[in-house]
Amino acid sequence: MLVLTMAGELSGGAFLGGGLAFIALGLIYYLTALTTAEPHPRPTAVNAPRDLEGEASVTMLERLPIPVLLIGAGGRIERANPAARTFLGLGSERGLLSTVLRQPRVLEAVSAALRGDRGATVEYSTLAPLESHVRAFVEPIRLSAPGPMPFRAMLVLADDTNSKRAERMRADFLANASHELRTPLASLAGFIETLSGPARDDEEARDRFLGIMTVQTERMRRLINDLLSLSRVEMNEHMPPTGQVDLNALTADVAEALAPVATRRNITLKLLEADSETALVRGERDQLYEVIENLVQNAIKYSPDGSQVDISVSHGVSRDAAEHLGARIDPESGRLTLTAPALDPDARFGVVRVQDQGGGIERRYLPRLAERFFRVDGQKSGPTSGTGLGLAIVKHIVNRHRGGFTVESAPETGSVFTVFFPVATASNIATQPDLPRTEDSAVR
Ligand code: ADP
Repeated sequence: MLVLTMAGELSGGAFLGGGLAFIALGLIYYLTALTTAEPHPRPTAVNAPRDLEGEASVTMLERLPIPVLLIGAGGRIERANPAARTFLGLGSERGLLSTVLRQPRVLEAVSAALRGDRGATVEYSTLAPLESHVRAFVEPIRLSAPGPMPFRAMLVLADDTNSKRAERMRADFLANASHELRTPLASLAGFIETLSGPARDDEEARDRFLGIMTVQTERMRRLINDLLSLSRVEMNEHMPPTGQVDLNALTADVAEALAPVATRRNITLKLLEADSETALVRGERDQLYEVIENLVQNAIKYSPDGSQVDISVSHGVSRDAAEHLGARIDPESGRLTLTAPALDPDARFGVVRVQDQGGGIERRYLPRLAERFFRVDGQKSGPTSGTGLGLAIVKHIVNRHRGGFTVESAPETGSVFTVFFPVATASNIATQPDLPRTEDSAVR
């Protein structure tokens, strides 16, 4: 039996980010087993002794979602686990590493390992055709059998693309949030300075400045509320709710609460007749309220005075029907699904549509609507402008509910925002156990 020994230092911590040191040990078993395995193993005789430890290691590493390769003389791929095959798009034949991984520094490290030099860790990034960030760990492995080429190179690829992207998103988010808060804060500080200095005795200026300061403070309050709301939703996004909510009653409540806002602008809020008496969906009432409230508020905010906002509820429709409910508002309108649940032909949804006669949104902006802090150009500034977080919150809540969110819009015609949530069924909501009633006998 051919035995492999690590020529270089193999430290589990540096290797795969800690916690997976045992994998390093498994890798040695794996590579040993791979190198000793015949290309087409013959069936083993029933009582033949089997290397169970080696087999377990092979199974473990075959299933490991981390690409692992063994590179032989001339840079030829001798072995690759399924994760490596998928990652590098390898076919069944074993070609040269240089044809599938065009990273000169990795190839140099592999050549060095094949000569028996020290192992190396190489980081590389690509931007096209897809963005990727990878750490490549290269280690020489010595074959104990005598021969002209005693070394192989073990190559392990750690895909850091998602964590790098998440890191960048977090940094962007922090920068955006601080910028959004800093602007009204700077303005407040400026007014305080003016009021305590040059405008101290100017009554008229004082009233005007206090009015602006109130608006700025209100803006900061909205921003902080939205940021908190967003982080709350994100925190429990992985846990679908277990309650049930009647969309008919909920939309009626939202419409009633926002009626005074609409009336101030002479906008008619019209609740269209629902197609069923109740529209029970699985959901958490407060979050669904926030979704519908955000959409109706936007419809009012971005519509001209005297226009109309239609709100409608449909119940028990398929995902496809929910995404394409209602006639197109304009032959040229843009339509986009911002998020949708996995396709299941049996799944049924309760749907809320909010349609306005506002200025609409250009097609090119539709994909960015649910991005945090995104506002369509021209609506960016001004203390009374929105926070740009409303639709991001809507999207997160919809995701948590395993529902869908679509938009259709045409400049000058208006927009339709649609959200849909799984219909409540005995299997997707928590059934409350019948609690014993507290009879008045206990309260006497
Ligand atoms: P905001 O607090 O700015 O309203 P949102 O996340 O709710 O933030 O919306 C993002 C952007 O999408 C808005 O700034 C606006 O430009 C655009 N938008 C949202 N709803 C509508 C609508 N009904 N009509 C036109 N534009 C809209």
